[in-house]
Amino acid sequence: MRVGIFADVHANEEALDVVLSALRQETVDQIICLGDLVGYGPNPNECISKISETADIVIAGNHDWGAIEKMPVEGFNPFARQAITWTQEVLNAESRKILNALPLIQDDGVIMAVHASPELPDHWHYVSSEDAVFRSLMAQTSPYCFIGHTHIPAIYSRAVNGDIMMQKGGSLTLDRGQLHLVNVGSVGQPRDSDPRAAYGILDIERSRFDLFRLPYNIKQVQEKMKDAGLSDFLIQRLTVGQ
Ligand code: ZN
Repeated sequence: MRVGIFADVHANEEALDVVLSALRQETVDQIICLGDLVGYGPNPNECISKISETADIVIAGNHDWGAIEKMPVEGFNPFARQAITWTQEVLNAESRKILNALPLIQDDGVIMAVHASPELPDHWHYVSSEDAVFRSLMAQTSPYCFIGHTHIPAIYSRAVNGDIMMQKGGSLTLDRGQLHLVNVGSVGQPRDSDPRAAYGILDIERSRFDLFRLPYNIKQVQEKMKDAGLSDFLIQRLTVGQ
């Protein structure tokens, strides 16, 4: 069974389109979206409808909750807050309904899917410090746990003796005796200095995870963001992937 996994689309339809068409060609058996469908980008309604039509599992992210006022926007940085306020204004009723119904976490005994951390999904912790990685792996109840939220791909593995290994992004043949916590990076706003859209494929029989990066038409998204009046900082960061 092959599972396509992506996160943090952030209303970037051009980036989403290249990832969805790649997943179609890869013939995966299941597609999981790890949340943050909206925020930052200019096409929230389009992205919500494409993702909800295509993905088998869609998880809620903090921007999705912020966009439907399920959580206060005060905790967001000023750029994120401005984009969330803009998103609140343009979301249609159908999009709101879809976002409102998204679960925080899904676990089928093989794969856990959560936006931020499996420890306390609604606390939106960033799994980047050693402590946060350890706590997430301790909270993990299935062999594979997929996360997003930091927009930086990484693979963390916990051996039976408790040793934790880390790999920045990339692909890995996974040891069946270990727990694997995988950050799949971001489709619509990567922050690892690689501006290309990120997505991953887990092949369960082969115990193999591969991360892919795809170029997309960044200029077109930036034009739309300008027209929508979104901040220049958000527009520029797409070029550098930061
Ligand atoms: Zn995000």
